[in-house]
Amino acid sequence: MTTTSSPSLTITAARIEVPFTVTFATVTLREPGPGEVLLDVLACGICGFDMEIAESLATNGPQAFGHEICARVRAVGPGVTHVQPGDQVVLESGSFCCDCDLCRNGRVDLCNKGAGFWSGPAMGFAEAMLVPARNVVPARDIAPLAAVLAEPCGVAVDMVKVADIGLTDKVLLVGAGPIGLMALPLIRRATAGPVVVANRSTGKLEKARRLGADKVVSTQDVSLPDLGTEYGGFDRILITAPPEVIPDCIIATAFGGYLVYIGSNFRSGGVIQLDTHALHFGKKQLRPSFASPALYLPEALTLLRTGIIPPKEIVSHVFPLSKLAEAIATVRTQRDAVCKVAVVPDAAFTSPPGPLP
Ligand SMILES: [Zn+2]
Ligand SMILES: [Zn+2]
Repeated sequence: MTTTSSPSLTITAARIEVPFTVTFATVTLREPGPGEVLLDVLACGICGFDMEIAESLATNGPQAFGHEICARVRAVGPGVTHVQPGDQVVLESGSFCCDCDLCRNGRVDLCNKGAGFWSGPAMGFAEAMLVPARNVVPARDIAPLAAVLAEPCGVAVDMVKVADIGLTDKVLLVGAGPIGLMALPLIRRATAGPVVVANRSTGKLEKARRLGADKVVSTQDVSLPDLGTEYGGFDRILITAPPEVIPDCIIATAFGGYLVYIGSNFRSGGVIQLDTHALHFGKKQLRPSFASPALYLPEALTLLRTGIIPPKEIVSHVFPLSKLAEAIATVRTQRDAVCKVAVVPDAAFTSPPGPLP
């Protein structure tokens, strides 16, 4: 990173464009204005949504990306008091505004009107970025490669809260990606009943066992309806898998049970057919979890800091920023081995790129 003689900062920032095309741009960031914070990025995770952006959403030319961010404060603008230069922080990928009727009525979870950093010239896959102070959450006493999980961990926390798991509920988690695996220790603590994890590929099933699953199955071996029959129906099914699994999950849900769904398919797979009679006469609820605005980052940091959610089980690969294209290719091609891939600035990168030992 280089600074010029002016207070502005010249840095390298990654760009993404459909299909999966990474480029780098030299960007000059001005000094922070009122209510703004200038950050040096310490680590940024690759999210499933980043892969959607790379595959089908970034159609208007190269755009900045990366929203799972741990950073260090370089400078703060006038009026910013909750962090100061040198502080380590994480970022809310979207924030509530504090001023609208929804916020004032206590429904901050429904407000996405807070200032954000998505339109900026540099986001998490960059050496530095300028962000609204509203997005910045202090993250002390935690390694950057653990804190980088705070934002997606908040997604897992939201899903578990939406699931409202009872003390002895039988729970099925469908999908053993980073969100599902971070939810798993919380599900394990929420219920004394059986916790079962189903995933198509087998690569992360042992990890799921270590994180609290009583039983792990591959959906290549067992169908979800058969699994439901074996357990007499699941009281809660938490789904972090493509939408096409939802019909089978409805069958596998117990009378009165909840299906909590998080996932996306921005192509044709986002539209599916559902048996509404099975929902109605089965008193089953389909509950989407959508952690926008990004809430619960302080809770997520505590869960990661204490090891209740062990970061080492979730972060599987680390790449330097200059090898971002390789990092994205690894997410695409090594689904069995990859859990969360983190990218760090080249200056902070020490070990060989790829899987962590
Ligand atoms: Zn994300
Ligand atoms: Zn608001």
